[in-house]
Amino acid sequence: MMRQYELVERVQRYKPDVNEALLNKAYVYAMQKHGHQRRASGDPYFSHPLEVAAILTEMHMDEATIAVALLHDTIEDTTATRQEIDELFGPDLGKLVEGLTKLKKLDLVSKKAEQAENLRKLLLAISEDVRVLLVKLADRLHNMRTLDHVPEAKRLRIAEETMEIYAPLAGRMGMQGMREELEELAFRYINPEAYRTVTERLADIFKRNRGVVEEIEKSLSALFEKHAIEAVVKSRQKKPWSVFRKMEAKALSFEQLSDIFGFRVVVGTVEDCYRALGAIHTTWSMVPGRFKDYISTPKQNDYRSIHTTIVGPSRQRIELQIRTREMNKVAEYGVAVHALYKDTGGKVNGASHAISKETNAYAWLRRTIEQLAEGDNPEDFLENTKLELFQDQVFCFTPKGMLIALPRGATPIDFAYAVHTDVGDTCVGAKVNGRIMPLMTELKNGDEVEIIRSKAQVPPAAWESIVVTGKARAAIRRATKNAIRKQYSGLGIRILERAFERAGKQFSKDSLKPILHRLARKDVDDVVTAVGRGELSSNDVMKAVYPDYKDERITPAPKLREEGWSKIRNAAGMLFQIPGRASRKEKREAKDNGVPIRGISGDLPVRFAPEGAVPGDRIVGIVQPGSGITIYPIQSPSLKDFDDQPERWIDVRWDIDEATKERFPARVSVTAINAPGSLAEIAQVVAVNDANIHTLSMVRTAPDFTEMLIDLEVWDLKHLNRLLSQLKDNSSVSEARRVNG
Ligand code: MN
Repeated sequence: MMRQYELVERVQRYKPDVNEALLNKAYVYAMQKHGHQRRASGDPYFSHPLEVAAILTEMHMDEATIAVALLHDTIEDTTATRQEIDELFGPDLGKLVEGLTKLKKLDLVSKKAEQAENLRKLLLAISEDVRVLLVKLADRLHNMRTLDHVPEAKRLRIAEETMEIYAPLAGRMGMQGMREELEELAFRYINPEAYRTVTERLADIFKRNRGVVEEIEKSLSALFEKHAIEAVVKSRQKKPWSVFRKMEAKALSFEQLSDIFGFRVVVGTVEDCYRALGAIHTTWSMVPGRFKDYISTPKQNDYRSIHTTIVGPSRQRIELQIRTREMNKVAEYGVAVHALYKDTGGKVNGASHAISKETNAYAWLRRTIEQLAEGDNPEDFLENTKLELFQDQVFCFTPKGMLIALPRGATPIDFAYAVHTDVGDTCVGAKVNGRIMPLMTELKNGDEVEIIRSKAQVPPAAWESIVVTGKARAAIRRATKNAIRKQYSGLGIRILERAFERAGKQFSKDSLKPILHRLARKDVDDVVTAVGRGELSSNDVMKAVYPDYKDERITPAPKLREEGWSKIRNAAGMLFQIPGRASRKEKREAKDNGVPIRGISGDLPVRFAPEGAVPGDRIVGIVQPGSGITIYPIQSPSLKDFDDQPERWIDVRWDIDEATKERFPARVSVTAINAPGSLAEIAQVVAVNDANIHTLSMVRTAPDFTEMLIDLEVWDLKHLNRLLSQLKDNSSVSEARRVNG
């Protein structure tokens, strides 16, 4: 066990003006309080707080934090009280110890809501003083290091909690060393088999390649010497967990993992980082797509480094990280490096640092807490935290400054739904940082997003594939389902009204109630929707309500009739079927030259609504007095205009056979990046896919994108969807969707 003077000496090494008295007092007090208590391992209990303190000295923490580490289990496990600690060590320290005590009570709860509450309390405690988190993490690290002694039943839960909460939290705070060790330890207990396999394979690889690693190290050192760059080169052993995760995420086998070899180059200045990079890239060829400059664009947790992968001296891939000593320290200890400033007035080891700028890790924490304070459902919070918060995430703001945290890849639609379901459902556009942007724009950290809304909007089903948040996806699914159902039920009612009217009866929803069982439907709405969808004929409903009902208009024997549909042909010769019974003669005529329509006098011209309709669409006809019938896809919003004129609605169906060789109109909206050749590329995709552009018009032109409406001619819905997805895949297209389709 570490002696009292050893602990003081350790701190003294990085903090010469250490408050020795405080450390000594805390050491003695904790040792006495824990007395003869033993850990599961049989060690004296005091060895645990002492080890936790030791871990924190490695992170160069101040004496207050070390003292809190020594005292962290006293209130919970001994006769010590908050009051006593306040008196002996001051209320600031007492508060930290109490904060840790509260957290301890919340460890290892299995219910989801309790876990969420736990995490919430943890974050709230951290928000008061980040040192609580540092001690908590060091505490968890030591417990994980000694997990073998804990009863087996408890081990897995502790390991899982570590993997799900503490390791990501450490990473988020920029403490990569802590994160890696927690992950490795947890991995060992969560998946012992995989851990053993990966560890053995790694050891084997390193054994076989020892010469290679040394060779690379030498080549790199020689290169830097040649360029007079002072650099320390160190090989990095890949950790089993990170290897395993990569294999899992990318479904790779061990053999396919190319970047087992990792090296870190630590230099003195930022300038040297780029000089070293230049020297490396001019000597060996780099692997494309693997270069990342986190120096000019630091990660959210303040991580800075240059990453590159090169093809090394013996043709093997080598991963390199280039950074300064300062960056290295931040990468290892993260927020802990900054936590020191609190007590030292910005001076660490005599060096002066400005702390006016809040570090990213702190900013993240602060915003997380703000978000926490707003939510009232702990389970929701857990969902957001465990699954999303700990992934890379973006923070955006409403125009009023409210923070909206979203997973990376989120769009303004996700943002709208995160604000409120109503906002999402009525979202028609978005301004990002004051500029109108396409709704599928990927949001970035700090974006201010203003949602443009319209009450008339119904969220298009296609949004479901654009959004990334579960909340948005569920809401869109619900809204589209409702909208479609509403349209079908409205249509069903109109069809039934007409049918009843023909029979000289008055339709009412109530009249359907007594016959639900006969139609095997659960409620009235179900009946009218089924009629609207065409799953149930109005005739069947009529017969169920009026068992004696006979369609008076059918005079000849029914077997001579088709199913109650007759065919009409449009100006282009396209066949549609509309309700009404066709005689044999009429049927024959339909095959030849189009058919007069029963119930509608004359040879009515048929045309398509401006947005078009293609085979595969469910369609409906609207009678245009004096000018024929217009065909609309059933989901077309324009149909709302005819809602109050049910007499104008006509059921129509496609009548396409294989011989029909004709393209049909469909209007699409395409948003393209303003770059030379964008338009040509779009035209190319259309042409390659055997479709035609009928007309094209620019709707909106912003500095970096253009939205255009294209009237296409396509074979059918499948063809249209294939074309849309290929347009979307094109790099100059940011959005391609059907208009009103
Ligand atoms: Mn402890």
